[in-house]
Amino acid sequence: MQRLTRLFFTLVLLLSVGFSGQVFADTFEENVSQALQNLNLSKGDVGLLVLTNAPYIKVDGANALPWLNQAQEKTGCTVGKGNLLFFQRAQSHPFRLMLFRKTDGQAVIISREKSNWVTDTVNIGPDTISKAAFWEKIDTYHAGRDMFTLASLANVWAKGGPYDFLKSAELHNHICPGLTSGYLMAHYILDHFPLKDGERYTVVACPVWCKEDAFQVVMDCTPGKKGLVVKPLSDDQKKQISVANPAGMVLVWDAEQKRGRGAALSFSFDPLRALSAKDTPKAAMVLAALDHLDQPDRFVSTSAEFNLDEKRYNAITRAGSNPWAVVGLMKTQ
Ligand SMILES: [Zn+2]
Repeated sequence: MQRLTRLFFTLVLLLSVGFSGQVFADTFEENVSQALQNLNLSKGDVGLLVLTNAPYIKVDGANALPWLNQAQEKTGCTVGKGNLLFFQRAQSHPFRLMLFRKTDGQAVIISREKSNWVTDTVNIGPDTISKAAFWEKIDTYHAGRDMFTLASLANVWAKGGPYDFLKSAELHNHICPGLTSGYLMAHYILDHFPLKDGERYTVVACPVWCKEDAFQVVMDCTPGKKGLVVKPLSDDQKKQISVANPAGMVLVWDAEQKRGRGAALSFSFDPLRALSAKDTPKAAMVLAALDHLDQPDRFVSTSAEFNLDEKRYNAITRAGSNPWAVVGLMKTQ
């Protein structure tokens, strides 16, 4: 009986390994080779993308760069060729590395789970990700919630999305309509408020949403360098703003002359939503917006302009103030 039980469990183990295509003893390198074979791609193929969080996470307390190096050697994907992309995650997040085939969105995702390499073989092409049913079952994959990150970035890459958009997505770790709004606003600012000698930008993130991560990448406006001042508003405060679709402000400041100018900006999600059918999943909605990323004026507008002296600049940017009240754009002051 004991023998029979053992035989039964051995059989179950063999079958499960067979069905999932995983052999737990595989090294990482072997998994990458297997993935290439599986996708019918070879080293240096231009239709191959590698997307990974390897530069950011830690595995057993050590950085994951040796595996990233192995993947580069095996696939020929490099940053310079534009087919090696990263996404930021907390250091404790599981390791992920995806090989993605441009032509149809077929992908193999290699993850580290309890000291083993495990894989998901899955199609995440545009047709798949536009169906709500796909998103309902993502927890059944090892990659789980990272599926949104992987699918949104890979499809934008496949469709030839701008590189600075992909770089913004690396920091934000996914592409969503919110990040897209920030990307469009950053380019609107660069187009409409070009800097003169001695001037610099301060973006006022108020109200705050996903958009803020695009300013940091596209404009190098970061909180640490005081280029991005982040001020969340309560729902009541938002309702009191007197312009439609308030999205933030840009200040163009000359620190030596102690003067500058500013603009309150609005962002309308309506034209963005109009590009896809109602209830389109977010990852697919972003793809529909791709053809319009070079037309920020369709979505962004200047709702007010004002001059800045030192007192006003400080009043807007320092703690304890509501910038919209400072520039007189609240219904009740
Ligand atoms: Zn987001």
